[in-house]
Amino acid sequence: MAQSDTTVALIGAGKMAECLIAGWIEAGLAPQAIAVTNRRNDQRLAELADRYGVRTARDKAAVLQGAQVVVMAVKPVDMATALEQVAPHLGAEVAVVSVAAGIRLEAMARRLPGQPHLVRAMPNTASRLRQAVTALCAAPTCSPAAFDRVRWLFDQVGTTVEVGEEAFDAVTALSGSGPAYVYLLVEAMLEAARDLGLPDGVARDLAVGTVVGAGSMLRHTGLSPAELRRQVTSPNGTTAAAIAVLEEMAMPAAVRRAVNRAAARSAELA
Ligand code: NAD
Repeated sequence: MAQSDTTVALIGAGKMAECLIAGWIEAGLAPQAIAVTNRRNDQRLAELADRYGVRTARDKAAVLQGAQVVVMAVKPVDMATALEQVAPHLGAEVAVVSVAAGIRLEAMARRLPGQPHLVRAMPNTASRLRQAVTALCAAPTCSPAAFDRVRWLFDQVGTTVEVGEEAFDAVTALSGSGPAYVYLLVEAMLEAARDLGLPDGVARDLAVGTVVGAGSMLRHTGLSPAELRRQVTSPNGTTAAAIAVLEEMAMPAAVRRAVNRAAARSAELA
């Protein structure tokens, strides 16, 4: 069977699940090849069925029926229960992927005895626009074919990298939580723009264009962020004045501390 015929069941119908669904549909997966369930909110399931044409059901067995890949998209605190609920309905050939922060492969294996094809993934919400970066790590028991199928799915919503499981707390802190750091920066830029009297719409266009442009420069020039920053910072110029304040107020140290704290939090969730 071709990978483009892959069938997926999502356990959890929250924000991350919707971003994956939207990206997969945009990538051309058949809506009927995607099934989703959640805990107790029928209205949410109806909304997703309406918006994307995916299959939905409250009953886990119905959603898991025929799925080649099961994506566990529940909060870390709900993972143990959710895994126990799906366990009786899984065939041995199904690949089970967790996108939850902090949930280790070994913890998945404990709740899914006899299930070899286990994968840990850390995508981000940009999968909605097929611009996610997803880190992946397979259990030693996962077959190459099952892993390839999972990787193919996440390649549809952006790019993927394979990392060792020991890197997952760092990855979670960097790219899983990372979009929020950039949004906070933009929020602050917009507040400053308002102080300076720029109309909100104009400020938003300029700030968003700036972030997207800077991201594209990082991606396409191959230059380091430090070099790109040097290129836009003339001595005694306006950028230099701003950077001096950010350094004086320890912005780089604050970001390092924040990312470290997120990684520590991911480790605590294990
Ligand atoms: P959310 O709260 O929006 O969604 C969680 C969903 O899980 C809800 O629909 C809830 O009903 C459902 N659920 C809980 N227990 C269940 C059960 N036993 N059976 C079926 N459904 C159940 O959370 P979210 O932001 O979508 O995050 C989900 C997971 O994705 C988390 O583990 C998080 O670490 C991971 N993640 C999130 C992001 C992000 O930016 N939101 C990024 C990367 C990874």
